[in-house]
Amino acid sequence: MSRLDARYLRRKLLEAQHEQTPVALGGSAFVALGAGGYYWWQTGQLFFPLWLLVALALLIARLVLYVRLEQRRNSVEPLDEVYWQRLYFWSVVVAALSWAAIGLYVELSLPFTEAAFIYVCLAGMVAGSVASTASVSPLLYICFSAITLLPLSLVLLVSMVPQKVAMGLICIAFFVFTQRSTFRIYGVFEGFMSSSLVNEQLLRELRQEQRRVLKLNGQLREDLVKRINTEKQLRTEKQRAEALAEKLYELSSIDGLTEIPNRRYFDELLAAEWSRALRSGTVLSLIICDIDYFKDFNDHYGHLVGDECLKAVARELDLHARRAGDSVARFGGEEFAVLLPGTELADALRLADEMRESVKGLGISHRGSRVSDLVTISMGVACMVPTLDKRPQQLLKEADEALYRAKHQGRDRVVSAA
Ligand code: GH3
Ligand code: MG
Ligand code: MG
Repeated sequence: MSRLDARYLRRKLLEAQHEQTPVALGGSAFVALGAGGYYWWQTGQLFFPLWLLVALALLIARLVLYVRLEQRRNSVEPLDEVYWQRLYFWSVVVAALSWAAIGLYVELSLPFTEAAFIYVCLAGMVAGSVASTASVSPLLYICFSAITLLPLSLVLLVSMVPQKVAMGLICIAFFVFTQRSTFRIYGVFEGFMSSSLVNEQLLRELRQEQRRVLKLNGQLREDLVKRINTEKQLRTEKQRAEALAEKLYELSSIDGLTEIPNRRYFDELLAAEWSRALRSGTVLSLIICDIDYFKDFNDHYGHLVGDECLKAVARELDLHARRAGDSVARFGGEEFAVLLPGTELADALRLADEMRESVKGLGISHRGSRVSDLVTISMGVACMVPTLDKRPQQLLKEADEALYRAKHQGRDRVVSAA
């Protein structure tokens, strides 16, 4: 048994003792008044009223003890069980001494027939105390019964009067037999206390477990809320990152000056459209344009005006590539590419010529040009149905060669690769 368990048992025993005290005191008062009063009335001897006074004073003292313990039990301060048990023990021992005193006095001063009443009273007291002390402490019962009965029994035995010797023997037998009952009752009571202790311990552990589970539950809920918040934050961050990546991609795909797709984008587009045309077996046309004598334009008007000219040409070309899938990109310095999926060569040539006309139609003056007073463009057009043995670079190469020929044939014109 642990220290805590021993203390619990001590407290329970004290409580049991305490709860039985009113009955014990009531019984004692009744017997004391009966015995003291009877002998006082019968003999008129001063001893008996004096004894009654002492016995009643003792009962009052035990009653005070009871009330004090009751108050202490209800207070919040911890109870010193050992101290109270000791007090209780000594109060019972003193009560036993008072009973022994009256028993011996009666036995020594009165004839056997008169004294018989006190034997009955003492035996009754001892029998009654089995109930009030046995369940609490066998030792307490032994002390009480031994003090009350044994001195008297000895006096009876040594008197050598047969009736008295018989009475002494009966008292001793009564003392011995009640000891057995005392230990039995105490065993049952202790067993009951131990099992109630186990139950209380289980209950305590259960409460602790419940508190732990509740705490864990709270933590879990907090973690869950945190996780949800983090996930929400992550989702927002992801959306922002995706938007940023898209923006970046757009920025990296758009030419900063002309604001049309750049070469990088064009290369990707060409590869994609090539694959698509390869799968569907459709034609793919490509126009490459180059501003004529643009170096001279820059030299004549300055680089900034050159930039403006590039923007205007890009805008104009873009205006003409309006069919779904058509796209214009800045291919190089003053070169542009127009990709036309699903457009036959004749249509591509027609569109190229329209573009050439409309660029010229912008009316941008070009004093440095040797073909016109205005800005003009030369264009090479290529068209093919992609096959597995061809590469997109082939289409580029053909368009570029056509452009080269357009330059050589005098510029400001459209030349077909075919
Ligand atoms: P050709 O008719 O044979 O094409 O002659 P060209 O002078 O147009 O060709 P060339 O390749 O000799 O010169 C291209 C010029 O384009 C040179 C370069 O300064 C100019 N250029 C390229 N990119 C830009 C640009 O972003 N802004 C400006 N202003 N000029 C550019
Ligand atoms: Mg060029
Ligand atoms: Mg040029």
